Amino acid sequence: MLQLNQPAQLLFGSAAAGHTLLQATHLPQLDELLTQALATRAPADRHLQINGQPHHAFVALAGAAGEHGAVLLVQDLTELERLGRARRDFVANISHELRTPITSIRLIADTLRHLPDLDSQRQHSLLEKIAIETEALGQLSGELLDLAQIESGQVQPSYELVAVRDLLATVHQRLQALAHGKALHVQIEASPALHVRTDPLLLERTLVNLLHNAIKFTPAGGTITLLARVEEPRLLLGVIDGGNGIPPLELPRIFERFYRGDPARSKGGTGLGLAIAKHAVELLGGSIWAESSGAPGAGAAFYIKLPFP
Ligand code: ADP
Repeated sequence: MLQLNQPAQLLFGSAAAGHTLLQATHLPQLDELLTQALATRAPADRHLQINGQPHHAFVALAGAAGEHGAVLLVQDLTELERLGRARRDFVANISHELRTPITSIRLIADTLRHLPDLDSQRQHSLLEKIAIETEALGQLSGELLDLAQIESGQVQPSYELVAVRDLLATVHQRLQALAHGKALHVQIEASPALHVRTDPLLLERTLVNLLHNAIKFTPAGGTITLLARVEEPRLLLGVIDGGNGIPPLELPRIFERFYRGDPARSKGGTGLGLAIAKHAVELLGGSIWAESSGAPGAGAAFYIKLPFP
């Protein structure tokens, strides 16, 4: 007589108990597996689809000698397969990201080796390209390490009371040369009295990342605003730029690892920055999101909400 535990009742229906396995499950593969295990007196297992989802079934013999009992274990593999796919995609993405700079450096090295008489201006320009590609490789490995450390829980926030306006000023200062190079005006809107208990380094790194994007996407001469204000019981931080914004269809995806917008707009980068930012903010107990109408010139706004004070 067939008995089912609660998860099995959910899978096959509670009316299945008391029937034969075939009547209960309408799955001939399971019935064959059971028959095989009972006939050979040996455990048996196989993969099969149940309700269109991947499952693994395992039959173990049960009961004393002479009795014909068996236990059927059915495991839903959907989540496991999804994780396996995500891991394969991740590795494929990294390999792809590594290939471009490595190929480029190899080609340049070949050129320099086979054409030793290149004029010094041409040599200089090739060496410059090697420096740019090496920089890209360094950024990728640095971001991969950040992501791995944050995801594996190795980063433990270290909380202290932080003066928010000073923190925003430091963030600006770190990228001042870059903003200056594009004649961008970066303005800070935050009360000097505002303090929050948080991890200053983790928050600073996240805001530098957002400001870096804002500088990258805002045309020369534009304005970027860094703001902070209390929206009880949270602190709201914002990085608001004057770039081309983000199309509404892309908004839900930009925090995914390796997601990069339309190549015509994405201006290089690894697509890891926002994934790291999201992990860091969540580690601080907060949330992060982006707003943009997607209209040209309307810009993009990235907001962070943190526990306050
Ligand atoms: P990357 O390091 O490549 O910039 P991110 O994770 O920081 O990667 O960003 C992912 C994508 O989100 C970018 O390729 C771009 O399409 C979009 N994006 C991020 N910030 C902005 C912004 N301020 N304005 C417009 N698009 C942005």
